[in-house]
Amino acid sequence: MADFTYDFFVIGGGSGGVRAARMAAQGGVRVALAEAAALGGTCVNVGCIPKKLYSYAAHYADAFTEAAGFGWDVGQPRFDWERLKKNRAAVITRLNGIYEQLLADAGVQILRGWAQLVDGHTVEVRTETGVQRITARHILLATGGTPSVPDFPGREHVLTSDSMFDLPVFPKRLVVVGGGYIACEFASIFQGLGAQVTQLYRGEQVLRGFDEEVRAFVAAEMRKTGVDLRLHAGVAAITRTKDGLELTLADGSTLGADTVLYATGRVPNVNGLGLDAAGVAQGKDGAITVDAHYRTSVHSVYALGDVTARVQLTPVALGEAMALVDHLFGDGKRKMGYEFIPTAVFTHPNIGTVGYSEADARAKFGAVTVFRSDFKPLRHTLSGSGERTLVKLVVDTASDRVVGLHMVGPDAGEVVQGFAVAMKAGATKAVFDSTIGIHPTLAEEFVTLRTAARH
Ligand SMILES: Cc1cc2nc3c(=O)[nH]c(=O)nc-3n(C[C@H](O)[C@H](O)[C@H](O)COP(=O)(O)OP(=O)(O)OC[C@H]3O[C@@H](n4cnc5c(N)ncnc54)[C@H](O)[C@@H]3O)c2cc1C
Repeated sequence: MADFTYDFFVIGGGSGGVRAARMAAQGGVRVALAEAAALGGTCVNVGCIPKKLYSYAAHYADAFTEAAGFGWDVGQPRFDWERLKKNRAAVITRLNGIYEQLLADAGVQILRGWAQLVDGHTVEVRTETGVQRITARHILLATGGTPSVPDFPGREHVLTSDSMFDLPVFPKRLVVVGGGYIACEFASIFQGLGAQVTQLYRGEQVLRGFDEEVRAFVAAEMRKTGVDLRLHAGVAAITRTKDGLELTLADGSTLGADTVLYATGRVPNVNGLGLDAAGVAQGKDGAITVDAHYRTSVHSVYALGDVTARVQLTPVALGEAMALVDHLFGDGKRKMGYEFIPTAVFTHPNIGTVGYSEADARAKFGAVTVFRSDFKPLRHTLSGSGERTLVKLVVDTASDRVVGLHMVGPDAGEVVQGFAVAMKAGATKAVFDSTIGIHPTLAEEFVTLRTAARH
């Protein structure tokens, strides 16, 4: 066998790369990892973590207003953007350090710099001290994704989600363009923090791919919070004026803004990675093509996480990393299941979902039974808020198995995580019915849905 410097070389120190490197090194494998930016990748630096912190911040606005109905008098709240940014940055810096420590403790050699493939067993890393050529038995590409903005007049004036956490000035008027979960989350967060948010989406409804009823429900709730959500609305051009930015919309109307966020999709991070040199095959938008064991078209090169543009979520990248390490260096028994992946959207209110939408379930199972309820939660009988909650179950009629579970309401992700275990285990509607509720909670509604809404 050829003599390689490392058994496993990982390019990208984000969710998938760090997990793979750490797990492999803990198993006694000689591992190195190259990261060009901050350790932790998208999730830690410009994704899940800062976003959730800002979502918490935004929820305080509701809490201050709602407190009055519960007997509290709070003074006039004042929001300090600089303080939030500074406190967030401190948390993220601490997390960067923890990631570095975890890798070092596991025995991973960390290389700070841009890495590119030379061939199936060779990587070149550009570090501060020069260019290093390194060989490895296996190479993992875990380089993630990056925001993509379409070409149009005025494109240079827009920002992507990467810049939103550190905006120098908090925008009074924010326009968010896009209808995916990142667009909706930023619209909710900045509206909550006090911006006047207009969200423009050229499609029929936001959150394509989610359950239709959830999409309509959350759109209505977001509008109630003050987001000016406009559907069938596209941007033709953006110009800078003395008052900020002016958007000309596809219908000819104009709209003023201080900041315009384009959250119109993400593409795999593959530029300058040397894929052509090594002969790694790519699919749509440059996504790296892999087989069931994350192997690319080159025998010794693997890829996982967002760069493969499949399910772009941190826990999926982590699951894939553990399955790959087990396949390469373990007993190969660990498998990554792609069915019943739960997920949350941190809009206000949150969405939590696992399994099939009603439409997808009808397409896959044929006959389905739908149970649903929307109601004003107990808390809002005193809070003065008009927010409503939606809970919904989609049941495969033939087997009685619950195949879709959806919620729009406070802490929906927290609620749905537990139900995801039951659904992975194949829980039927009869099992849900025989489960005792926890009273009084929102979550108990999922085990007390008795009457079918439709078949
Ligand atoms: C705004 C936003 C919010 C999100 N919220 C959530 C959420 O709430 N929940 C959730 O599950 N997911 C969320 N995600 C998605 C999640 O962040 C990604 O799915 C996850 O980070 C993917 O992990 P990864 O390892 O594939 O890539 P990444 O985490 O993106 O890591 C890739 C790393 O590779 C490095 N890199 C790239 N090319 C090179 C190179 N040639 N050499 C050296 N280093 C390189 C990059 O600098 C980066 O650090 C969010 C994403 C965004 C943008």
